[in-house]
Amino acid sequence: AEGPPRYDANNVLQTQENPRSEQESAVRQERRGKRFAQREVLWSITSLERVRKCGRTTNGNVGDGMAAVVMNGTVAHWSGFCSCGSIWACPVCSAKIRATRADEIARAVAQHMITSQPTEQATAPTAGATAWMVTLTARHKRKHDLAPLFDAVANGWRKLMSGPAWVGDKRRGELGERDLLGVRGYIRSMEVTYGTRNGWHPHLHVVLLLNNETAEQLAYAMDRWDRTWRAFLKKHGFEPSKEHGVKWSKVTTAEEAGEYIAKVQEGKGHLGSELARGDMKAGRLGTLAPFELLEYFRITGDMAVVPVWQEYEKGTHRRRAITWSRGLRAQLLPDEDELSDEDVAAEEVGGEVWAVMPADSLRAIRRVPGLQARILDTAENGGFVELVNLLTAWHLAWDLGPDAPQKNAN
Ligand SMILES: [Zn+2]
Repeated sequence: AEGPPRYDANNVLQTQENPRSEQESAVRQERRGKRFAQREVLWSITSLERVRKCGRTTNGNVGDGMAAVVMNGTVAHWSGFCSCGSIWACPVCSAKIRATRADEIARAVAQHMITSQPTEQATAPTAGATAWMVTLTARHKRKHDLAPLFDAVANGWRKLMSGPAWVGDKRRGELGERDLLGVRGYIRSMEVTYGTRNGWHPHLHVVLLLNNETAEQLAYAMDRWDRTWRAFLKKHGFEPSKEHGVKWSKVTTAEEAGEYIAKVQEGKGHLGSELARGDMKAGRLGTLAPFELLEYFRITGDMAVVPVWQEYEKGTHRRRAITWSRGLRAQLLPDEDELSDEDVAAEEVGGEVWAVMPADSLRAIRRVPGLQARILDTAENGGFVELVNLLTAWHLAWDLGPDAPQKNAN
């Protein structure tokens, strides 16, 4: 079955930013440049082999040891490189996967909103279909490793989603929150940040889909979640604190829900020149998203990042970042196959093959920080002629691709 159209007329994935003006294109290029640059420094410090090969080792699609510059509409891509598909560790793959997930979630939440059914047993005014963003956080001491913290937060979530308060008590004929709130399901993501003072900080972002809850039932559930979460934290050695716990806010647009779940891991982008003056060991960097750690390392070369980064990779490896409650995805997006993170990252949009490069050229490009991204920028900004000029200036061997616009330019 065919789902909603995912590609535009130029066969560009709608989930990827698809620039329509010079300004949008410049923003896109800046982001891509940063991600490529972060991946370049990651090659030297990652503990994961797949990540070390991402955007670096060829996959044979273009030809043995070769890669190509492919033009799709106004956007240039590299074709022929391996992708690692890591939503946690790779700035390039993560961006692609998260954009796709944010789009899926937005469409699923929109579908939830238009397919609400009034329940028969409602006795008070109900809200219809609603969606709530629920953030669950915990404070802890610095000495914790990431993996056990990750487990603790995940277990805390399971604790909330079990027991009579949630599922009800059949023998007593009591309904739980699941029925009272008309819970259709949830989508949750685990987010991880690193504080130079407090260490790892895993927390949950949940979008909870409800149907016909009353304000009173909801208020009761909010109170119960807060008490259960705090009791769980206390029992498992976390420090209770005022600012951490369970926070609810109502979803106003489906897009907002998608971004809340899938697009928060890159940080707020507030890292600029102050980062270069920061000192990780002195604990003056504040709280960083993982790719901000990479960015700090890229700018400063501070080796204190390396063990922290590798623990991050170890603590998140093979863990799910985004989880849908059972059956929810099939219910809300019935006509769409679920692609794995690896599939999403490996998906190439295709386009016109402009230039094909042999292994020697790829090796030379790899040695120059930023050149991989600059080649794409040049093709986008200056077209085929400028691309040829750049490759010539760098003495890079290349062959005309089958779709090169000016075959006599070489
Ligand atoms: Zn990757």
